[in-house]
Amino acid sequence: MRSDYDAVVIGAGPNGLVAANLLADHGWSVLVLEAQPAIGGAVASAEDVQPGFVHDTFSAFYPLAAASPTVRSLGLEEHGLTWRHAPAVLGHPFTDGSWALLHRDREVTARLADAQHPGDGAAWLELCAQWDTIGDQLLGALLRPFPPVRPALSLLARLRRVGGLAFVRDLLTPAAELGRNRFAGVGPGILLAGNAGHADIPLDAPGSGLLGLLMTMLGQTVGYPVPQGGAGRLADALGRRFTDRGGELRCDAEVIGIDVAGGRATGVRTSTRRVRARRAVVADVVAPHLFGRLLHPDDVPPRVARGMERFEMDPGTVKVDWALNAPIPWLTEPAHAPGTVHVADSIGQMQEALGQVQAGAVPAAPFMLAGQMTTTDPTRSPAGTESFWAYTHVPQETRTDAGGGDVRGIWDHDDCERFADRMQARIERLAPGFGSTVLARRVLGPRELEARNANLVGGAVGGGTSQLHQELVFRPVPGLGRAETGIGGLYLGSASAHPGGGVHGAAGSNAARAAVLHDRLRLRRP
Ligand SMILES: Cc1cc2nc3c(=O)[nH]c(=O)nc-3n(C[C@H](O)[C@H](O)[C@H](O)COP(=O)(O)OP(=O)(O)OC[C@H]3O[C@@H](n4cnc5c(N)ncnc54)[C@H](O)[C@@H]3O)c2cc1C
Repeated sequence: MRSDYDAVVIGAGPNGLVAANLLADHGWSVLVLEAQPAIGGAVASAEDVQPGFVHDTFSAFYPLAAASPTVRSLGLEEHGLTWRHAPAVLGHPFTDGSWALLHRDREVTARLADAQHPGDGAAWLELCAQWDTIGDQLLGALLRPFPPVRPALSLLARLRRVGGLAFVRDLLTPAAELGRNRFAGVGPGILLAGNAGHADIPLDAPGSGLLGLLMTMLGQTVGYPVPQGGAGRLADALGRRFTDRGGELRCDAEVIGIDVAGGRATGVRTSTRRVRARRAVVADVVAPHLFGRLLHPDDVPPRVARGMERFEMDPGTVKVDWALNAPIPWLTEPAHAPGTVHVADSIGQMQEALGQVQAGAVPAAPFMLAGQMTTTDPTRSPAGTESFWAYTHVPQETRTDAGGGDVRGIWDHDDCERFADRMQARIERLAPGFGSTVLARRVLGPRELEARNANLVGGAVGGGTSQLHQELVFRPVPGLGRAETGIGGLYLGSASAHPGGGVHGAAGSNAARAAVLHDRLRLRRP
């Protein structure tokens, strides 16, 4: 390892790896320093629950990566990545044995919705057609640095074709309402609401409808693909592409400080060495750690320091992985087996669970996201078995247990196991006999998640709340909304930066592009 590079990237999560690739594409010498023993951040997999079963440790489904112009431009398929799709994208099982299903073929989704409530099929196809007109522009605007002038203008030009202000109103309608306004049956609405529940925006708040629509329509257009062989194969492809271009990766190398001189980042420190960064430092680091730990307080611009005092993490997470000796015995087999499964009795119950988390209560009947991974990618476990997971959110600070008081919210071993029993009971109601298929179970609570990736503060999956007051120009602090940090040559390229959580690489891409642009401007200056 040399002692100076054009750029140093701190952290090898998807954003760090995207930034590193883009900088290497510009011919820069780039070093990535990763604290953990392996690259990937929250994109990782291992056979560590049961031999023969691959489990994704954190994230599992990648619609945002499949749709992201940046990730697509990297051509990861040439570096060993193969996407796999489940027969159906998403399913929501009900306790009466029926399902709401999203199939990648919109006609099939529409047919299924129509069978449950005549007329909903046509309404679904109309929604899809509206998305066809503005979806790419909307996604482009969301993933670009703020303000996204060009995609926003293109979006405005197309709005009239989808109903103008009436459609804008739909985008601003809270997720809990969106389905009720457009569909007579409950199925389409609960799919939209469940997809909004992937982030921590309350389902009755503006912004939740947009997210629900975005995730649902991505399911309808690109699907929810997974990397064949495990989530780690996506990280491997990013890493391989980077090292093929001469980039250097070092694991077990935690950065403990960033050197700043004359208001400009000049390099980084690990516990054993100092590395100079001639042109840029990109931090794939959660904002409170970047501004509160890696930088000396005197180096943080006062405006940023003040803003960070009010920075909010998103809720914590408990994730349970199961190795099953048989497919899940759902009450009724769905018409098409879904990869992603949402667990909630109704939109109302989903709202109640999310509201309890916001209010500091451990949810009594948690709203869960789950994944049938062998159904999606048969290489994940032996034929006839299932590699399965579910996760749900819990408060960062627990005041009470809405489920009767046996979970204290300190997330030690007992708390995690008791809460995992509560989660498992939710599956058992929908799939009687589920428990008897379990070969092995592993519970990752907030502490275990953070120990495996320091960015997951208190088990938060999104690098900070996704609520409107910390999005766009307010992310991570009011006035930023871009990768710039107020310190020359230092860029925030993690999920804490706009546009936030999810594996789309946009924060890393924004950071790399800003670094290259500023470097050019600096070199041009006399
Ligand atoms: C349980 C879970 C499930 C999720 N499910 C999905 C999903 O299905 N689909 C989806 O799109 N998104 C999902 N997400 C969100 C998504 O994984 C994250 O938003 C995304 O990984 C963020 O990428 P990142 O590069 O910003 O940070 P991370 O992936 O968190 O990576 C940050 C990296 O930086 C390293 N690091 C931090 N500090 C230092 C330091 N000081 N020195 C060196 N290295 C450091 C960390 O070790 C880590 O490797 C999920 C997240 C979790 C936790």
